[in-house]
Amino acid sequence: MTKGERRARFASLASMIPRPGESQVMDDQMRAVLRPLIDRILHDIRDQDCSRVEPNPRLCPNCDVPVESLKSPYCSPHCKEMCGFIRQFRGSFENAQILDPERQIGLAQAFWNMQGGGFPRRQAMVTPKIIAKVIEREGGKCARCGAPATEVEHIGSACNRPINLLPVCSPCNRAHLFGDPNYDRRSEVSPLYDEVALRIFVPEVVRVCDDFELWDWRAYVAERRALLIN
Ligand SMILES: [Zn+2]
Ligand SMILES: [Zn+2]
Repeated sequence: MTKGERRARFASLASMIPRPGESQVMDDQMRAVLRPLIDRILHDIRDQDCSRVEPNPRLCPNCDVPVESLKSPYCSPHCKEMCGFIRQFRGSFENAQILDPERQIGLAQAFWNMQGGGFPRRQAMVTPKIIAKVIEREGGKCARCGAPATEVEHIGSACNRPINLLPVCSPCNRAHLFGDPNYDRRSEVSPLYDEVALRIFVPEVVRVCDDFELWDWRAYVAERRALLIN
């Protein structure tokens, strides 16, 4: 596919995927997670050329920090999830499966999980003690709907101090994050969206780990082993 054909396929995706906050249907809300990525491709990525990053097995293939592990090529679960998502996306984009809403839901879930580097994983790092304290502060109720609160949501900043946390019930917490049309513009996730958008848009992969046909993590680790021995 040429760049023009790719752009046309992204345009048809944009026409079938709702924006965050546009739909109340749970499946649509999930698919909407992909929309900011696609909008970036259509509006922010011009004919930006992006040269291939030469693979260096001493480094994480996703982020270029030094890694000595011989079990995994990656520096972290986040990097593993990130190229996993990029490969899945590129693969289903190439064979047009991505036009199937079921496939879009699967990809959206992978993308959302991968964004654990932003708010969701930070939330997972809030200790049970702090969660209990924040919930108690508000009388045990969800600050958005009044139902019993079971988790917390960040307000204003990703900091885990109780002052930045709001008690919420689980449906409100999910709906809030899914439904925020500006979520992807938050400073802590925006660069990630830029990078992923570029890496899924370019016809030729930027990084060796983005290639759904050729990426071979075992070979990459084997090369690392050879380099570390010498
Ligand atoms: Zn990494
Ligand atoms: Zn609620």
